[in-house]
Amino acid sequence: MSDLKLVGKSDARVKTTFKAGNIEIGKDFLMIAGPCSVENEEQIIQTALKVKEAGANMLRGGAYKPRTSPYDFQGLGRRGLEYLKKASEITGLPFVTEVIDTRDVYLVAEYADMLQIGARNMQNFSLLQEAGRAGKPVMLKNGLFSTINEWMNCAEYIMKEGNEKVLFCERGVRTVETATRNTLDLSILALLKQYSHLPVISDPSHGTGKIYLIEPMSLASVMAGADGLMIEVHISPENALSDGDQSLTPEQYRCVCEKVVKTKQFYDSLQFRGKI
Ligand code: PEP
Ligand code: MN
Repeated sequence: MSDLKLVGKSDARVKTTFKAGNIEIGKDFLMIAGPCSVENEEQIIQTALKVKEAGANMLRGGAYKPRTSPYDFQGLGRRGLEYLKKASEITGLPFVTEVIDTRDVYLVAEYADMLQIGARNMQNFSLLQEAGRAGKPVMLKNGLFSTINEWMNCAEYIMKEGNEKVLFCERGVRTVETATRNTLDLSILALLKQYSHLPVISDPSHGTGKIYLIEPMSLASVMAGADGLMIEVHISPENALSDGDQSLTPEQYRCVCEKVVKTKQFYDSLQFRGKI
């Protein structure tokens, strides 16, 4: 890990916090919620209002979607960004949204409070560099088959461009297990907290792909030291244009939030920290 000059933890840099909208990431526990995709104006505004009421402090929603099939819904593009902005202005929630193309980085950065680099683009080095130059905080997900060293080096690419505001998001990796969509690796999340001063959150929605695993994995993520959670929430999961199978209803999300708050209070009350 010797080449991780900027990402690696040192005596001078133990824990980094930074602002995204009105949230101090790394200090305020981050609760990102919203649909996989922005589908229309009404959907994102209604979802934003409901997740805020339930306990979210940041909105999510994809306007540019990296889909396995080219025939699947690809997102609303710029129109999606405009709807997200409107939902954000109505609720006061800052928002994060994915950018998948180098050419769109500055456009997305004009609207979003934080850029998301998704799993499929983790090692898209030109996208990482462009995102690093755009000035907004960047949430970097781990790739489907990546090692912790590869992942941290991708964050190094962003920071090398002068952007100190990088957030890791553990979204699971592919393993031999097929009963879950991915394997949410909480040992890697805890290890990142040892290796890097940057904040780390967990995405149990993509990490498991199963609505009934989101609550237990959310609570486990808090106990592993996560700085926040990203959870997919849809006002009508059965009609979602993407990831409906793993999307919670706002009511289910509210129940998860209540338990997360209690678990975080318990975690903060414990004395143990760091290496044993
Ligand atoms: C998403 O957040 O909707 C997404 C596509 O995530 P990932 O890159 O983790 O698959
Ligand atoms: Mn999704």
